[in-house]
Formats: sequence, structure tokens, C-alpha cells
Amino acid sequence: MSSRTIEMSDALYAYMHRVSLRESDVQRRLREETAALEYSMMQISPEQGQLMRMLTGLIGARRAIEVGVFTGYSALSVALALPEDGELVACDVSEEWTAIARRYWAEAGVAEKIRLELAPATETLDALLAEGRAGDFDIAFIDADKTSYDGYYERCLELLRPGGLVLIDNVLWGGAVADEDNRSEDTLALRALNAKLHDDARIELCMLPVGDGLTLARRRN
Ligand code: CA
Repeated sequence: MSSRTIEMSDALYAYMHRVSLRESDVQRRLREETAALEYSMMQISPEQGQLMRMLTGLIGARRAIEVGVFTGYSALSVALALPEDGELVACDVSEEWTAIARRYWAEAGVAEKIRLELAPATETLDALLAEGRAGDFDIAFIDADKTSYDGYYERCLELLRPGGLVLIDNVLWGGAVADEDNRSEDTLALRALNAKLHDDARIELCMLPVGDGLTLARRRN
């Protein structure tokens, strides 16, 4: 029983939420508004948001990056743990979804900490590197187009200080990564990145079965 991760029935999952979730009213309303959208599955689970908030605080993060904002729940979770003068560079290409995010960031009082960059994330990350900000960030969260993950990962790793943390979402991809018959572009990209990280000596590695699978990659030096 205890040598592997527990399987979650709906009842057990609901119980876990009942006894552990500590969402503010703003977070809950953002999650509920997003749940009604067509692409609601792109929102992270609330327990993942809570984990990200704790990790941000644990490493004493002041500067953060997010690749893939959607409606802003994950950025809100991270921003809540940043100090008042903290900075979160949030990358996305959707005006429509990030308009929802902005509304809730303002309401939660974290809008000042978040700089939304509406451009392809690769351009934004390259611009940060060109500004000489390599090693300047503490934490990065990657949750966008899967075929670009490797490029995002390499750039984020460079932007992080030693001991900084890259979080990578959807690494279990609904189980598709373990299905050899599944050769979709996204699956192949995630499978290749997972294999690469396993052998990547630049990081400490941990993959958690939270949400759709969350990888923690801690930059060594
Ligand atoms: Ca995701």
C-alpha cells in the first residue's frame, strides 16, 4: 500500500480538498469562472496552485517566470507568495484569457507584481537573456504549447539562479506518455523532454503525480 502513490477515487479527491485546500475567495471565483470556459481543462488544479505557492515561499523566491498564463490561476498562486517588491514575468499570447487573469490579479492585490508580456514566450525569454538577466530568477513555471517545452526549459534554466526551480506541467499527459502507440506530436515532445531531464546532470529532479504530472527541476549550479 505505501510503496507507491495512492490512487484517487472521486470521494478521496474531494476529501483531500476538504481537509487541505486553503483558497481565498478570489482564487475560488477565478477557478469557478474558468471552469465554465471551453478550455477549462487548461487550468491547473487548486492543490497544484497551493503547492506552487508553498514552493515559491519555501525557496524565498522574489522573481518568477510563467510561460503560459491562461486565465491566471497559477500566476496568482505564485504571486501571492512573492514579496511586495517581487516580480513575475508572465508570458502568454491570448488577450482574451489574460483579460480574465488581470481582473482577478487586480482584485487579489497582486497586479503590481505581475508583468504580463503578450508575445510568443520564446521572444520574451530571449529578451530577458539579452537584457543580461541570466541567473536572475528564482522560479519558473512552464505550462504552454508542449512542442516548445524543451526550448522554454533551456531558456528558463539559464534565467534561474543556482538552486532555482523550474516547474513543468502536464508531464504525464493524461497517461499518453506511457502508451507506446500514442505518437502525437505533443506526446512525443513530452516523452522526449521527460527522458532528457532524467539524464540532465544540471538539475535535481522530481516528478510528482499532481494534476496531470508536475516535474520539479532544481538548477544545481
Ligand atoms: Ca497545464
